[in-house]
Amino acid sequence: MKLSKSVWQTYKEVPAEAQIPSHQLMMRAGLIHKLGSGLYTYMPFAYRTVRKIEQVVREEMDKVGGQEILMNVVTPGELWQESGRWEKMGSLMLKFLDKADRDLCISPTNEEAVADVFRSSVKSYKQLPVNLYQINTKFRDEIRPRFGLMRAREFTMKDAYTFHMDYECLDREYEKIYQAYENIFTRLGLKFSVVEADAGAMGSKESKTHEFQVTAETGEDIIIFSDEAGYAANVEKADTKRVNLEFDKIGGELKDVDTPNMGTIEDVCNFLKKPEHHSIKSLVYSAITGEDEEIVLIQLLGDDELNELKLKNFLGCEEVVPTPENKLAKLGLPKGFIGAVDLPQPMRVIFDQAIDLDAFYVTGGMKPDLHKENFCPNKHVKEKDVVDLRLARKGDLTPDGKHVVDEKKGIEVGHIFQLGDKYTKAMDVKILDQNGKSMHPLMGCYGIGVTRVMAAAIEQNHDENGIIWPKEMAPYDLYFALIGKSDEIKETADGIYEELKAAGFDVLFDDRKAGPGFKFKDSDLLGLPIRVVLGERDFKEKGELEIVIRRTNEKLFVKKEELISKLKELYAQY
Ligand code: ATP
Ligand code: MG
Repeated sequence: MKLSKSVWQTYKEVPAEAQIPSHQLMMRAGLIHKLGSGLYTYMPFAYRTVRKIEQVVREEMDKVGGQEILMNVVTPGELWQESGRWEKMGSLMLKFLDKADRDLCISPTNEEAVADVFRSSVKSYKQLPVNLYQINTKFRDEIRPRFGLMRAREFTMKDAYTFHMDYECLDREYEKIYQAYENIFTRLGLKFSVVEADAGAMGSKESKTHEFQVTAETGEDIIIFSDEAGYAANVEKADTKRVNLEFDKIGGELKDVDTPNMGTIEDVCNFLKKPEHHSIKSLVYSAITGEDEEIVLIQLLGDDELNELKLKNFLGCEEVVPTPENKLAKLGLPKGFIGAVDLPQPMRVIFDQAIDLDAFYVTGGMKPDLHKENFCPNKHVKEKDVVDLRLARKGDLTPDGKHVVDEKKGIEVGHIFQLGDKYTKAMDVKILDQNGKSMHPLMGCYGIGVTRVMAAAIEQNHDENGIIWPKEMAPYDLYFALIGKSDEIKETADGIYEELKAAGFDVLFDDRKAGPGFKFKDSDLLGLPIRVVLGERDFKEKGELEIVIRRTNEKLFVKKEELISKLKELYAQY
């Protein structure tokens, strides 16, 4: 590509909303154009990268038996009604009516569509397992679209779906795709972790699910891990244990203690000179499903936080939200002083399993400025649930209790999930088994955020001057810059450009009328692996061209005759 003919343009300023390096650099490097909130146009160079990522994904999916199809961006509402997700998907699904008043939506995901494809095309167990995948546009009306391509509303996803007769077969395919994902992200030059993910309330015991997380400071996900233990889980799912705690087992009689204006655990524990885990934190939550709302009281150790997803999974409701303050007041629950004793009305009380139910704690006194000492769950609360509700954190122990875990941040680029018969049952997708009996096949689904991968790669690979593309996804291999004005040198440059292309390189030829400073800045910003400079003076005096390695900034000069072989060597090492 000759830059003089390209629409490419770089920018000095970035919009204030671009908060993370990948977003800023993609805007500065003119890779994406913002069309609207969470809507980005991939400009030519970005689109080359998208296609390179897609190619790697395609090759690895094909290797494990994937059959590529292209489903629709628009899906009929009927299919979602069948699966029961028309309402459940909530506001992230963009719905609309066609001119005949039929429900449609822009696909946020395609389980329903693929189940429909499957039921019309596969009839017998002999055809299984089947792996159907596509690379297509998705739309999710995200609550907070941000960080450019990282959390866009419209984005490109590779989504694959497998179908099976039994869990053994599903497990086998799952393992194969797990391996394919490792190959994909390794080939793309990313540092990543595979972590246990949350299977949701619907996930059965057998359901495995993993996320592929690119490690980066700006990641929105927290990974709890121990390398020695080979343990890694999304904090949403992590069921780590607290290190052995000393509880107050002596206690005494339940008694009131005045705590004027002490509405936080910290204040109360400082005042009573107790460690925070000798207190109970009480949280009131609304568990919502459709129109139904149940108020529940959560009990955690004073220094623990609630994992809302664990609560939601346990209750099996659609949503959990902290009950708003005005509602608390109406229920007679004094914020900051709530406890499980003297509840103004019957309410489900759920204890986190880290709490020693026979120990004694400080807890809210159910009146403003009042706490109670010597609250003992087993003594004072008759009916209770005990489940794992706390949010895992650094310093905890792995679930087997043997290793201390640490925390790091990650960007979810891939997610694989065993769905079981959830969709095939709901949509009554059937297939004949060995005995001619019809059954609901099991499904797996496997996503990769193709455009998020591009952003994640930049998060991991950049410096103060710009992007440093991993070579598999660089828009071009070489940035070839001409510094010189004479017709003669232009002709030489044209010749070299053709030779480089003929040697198999993707070449971006900077033949613009601009000075070296300008060109090198753009070249660093765009971040192609290798820069080749044909400088008129050096070339005339010594017959040499300059090579600059983007990642290391290493510079060397080569004779024109050695250029191709040297570049091949350097590119292979990159
Ligand atoms: P997140 O938790 O980040 O919202 P998700 O778990 O909802 O993602 P999945 O349904 O697992 O996403 O979708 C598969 C993949 O699609 C994700 O692993 C991610 O890489 C990508 N993806 C999801 N949402 C977006 C988005 N808004 N913008 C870009 N990529 C996305
Ligand atoms: Mg996910």
